[in-house]
This record gives sequence, structure tokens and C-alpha cells, in this order.
Amino acid sequence: MVSRRVVRVERHAKHQHIVLDDGAIVAVHFRMNGDWELAHAHDPLPSYARIVFATTDGMRLCLVDSRALCTATYHAPGAPPELALGPEPDALTAGALWDALARRTGSIKTVLLDQRVVAGLGNIYVAEALWRARVHPAHRASALSGRQVQALVRGIKAAIADGFARQGRYRAGLRDRPFRVYDREGSACTRCRTKVERMTQAGRSTYWCPGCQGRRAGR
Ligand SMILES: [Zn+2]
Repeated sequence: MVSRRVVRVERHAKHQHIVLDDGAIVAVHFRMNGDWELAHAHDPLPSYARIVFATTDGMRLCLVDSRALCTATYHAPGAPPELALGPEPDALTAGALWDALARRTGSIKTVLLDQRVVAGLGNIYVAEALWRARVHPAHRASALSGRQVQALVRGIKAAIADGFARQGRYRAGLRDRPFRVYDREGSACTRCRTKVERMTQAGRSTYWCPGCQGRRAGR
């Protein structure tokens, strides 16, 4: 790959797409601790440089990753990588989620963790979103009502907003706001005072309130 110009860099959830002027794409994923390091071309090469781009103005961009978990793949013009990622939470609509859920089998908790349904939604946010929407984690994904799907979209966005607020408080050295249901097994639900329970679904812990998320219709 020589003498190519970078047209733009796109972010797709945790993937970066470096789009070149001939339409080829270099798809990069940092995984655990990869990062870009910019230096002059005559500086010593970083110890864990996995990829090196030399620029025409005498600079060098290295993908540095001490654990060698990052990935970078070259995709020829006209053959873009297949990400198959769903919409990001802030772009999620009830209609899109409804369509995605209708095609899925399995519990709503497990389906929401699938990045093809919603991109970048982790175990904590799924538990928090289901609690906010009053949906049982084991509810069959395809059997949710329209109202439940709408509540779930609101719940996902609220849980993400809460997560950002939590990060801000953490950085400012303020006391953490507790999660609504995640990691609260045995504590009283803040909404109905029922004891929060924990179960395992697809190998991951799920926290939920049998009081206000009690109905597991559609199983
Ligand atoms: Zn409750």
C-alpha cells in the first residue's frame, strides 16, 4: 500500500475505517489497549509498533499495542468490510428495534447484547435498560409488545445518559451514583422495594427486579 491518500476516517462503534483515495479501506480495531502514536519519521520506532504509516511530510503514525490483540485488515476497493453492526443507541428508533427483534429467537437480554441489534450496548446497560422498561430479561425478544419496545428504546437511551453522567462524576471526584439494578443483588429495588435478584443468561450475570420486571410473558 504505497502513495495513497487518506480521504477520511470513519468510526463504526469500536471499529475505525481509514478510507483511502482509491476506495480501499483499512479497518482497525484497538481491542484491549491498542492506540495510535504519532512521531517524526526519524524517531526510534515504538517497542510494540504493529503497523507503521509513513507520511509524505516526514511523520510516522504507528499502531502500538503491547498485547498484540489489535486487528487491522485491508479491504480492496469495492469490497468493504462487513460490519453488520446495528444502530448506535443514540440513533436507535422503536421501529428499527421492533424489526430487529421480530427476526430473533431467544431472550431479550441475550438479543440486546448482540452488536448486530444495537451497537456498543454492554451487559450493564442492558440490565439497566430492561429495569427502566420494566421488561423481564428472559422475555422472548420477538414477543415484546410495541409499548414494551418503545419503553426499551427510552430505557436504553436513559441508561446510556446515566452512564455518561456517572463517568463525569467519577472524573470530578464525586461520589458515584449507584446503578438502578446492576450489581444490586439482595438490595431493595428503588422503585418497588422488592429484593433484586441475579441470574445467569448465556454465561453473563443478569440483575433484575421480580417485583416490577416480574412478567415473563412470551416464553
Ligand atoms: Zn422493582
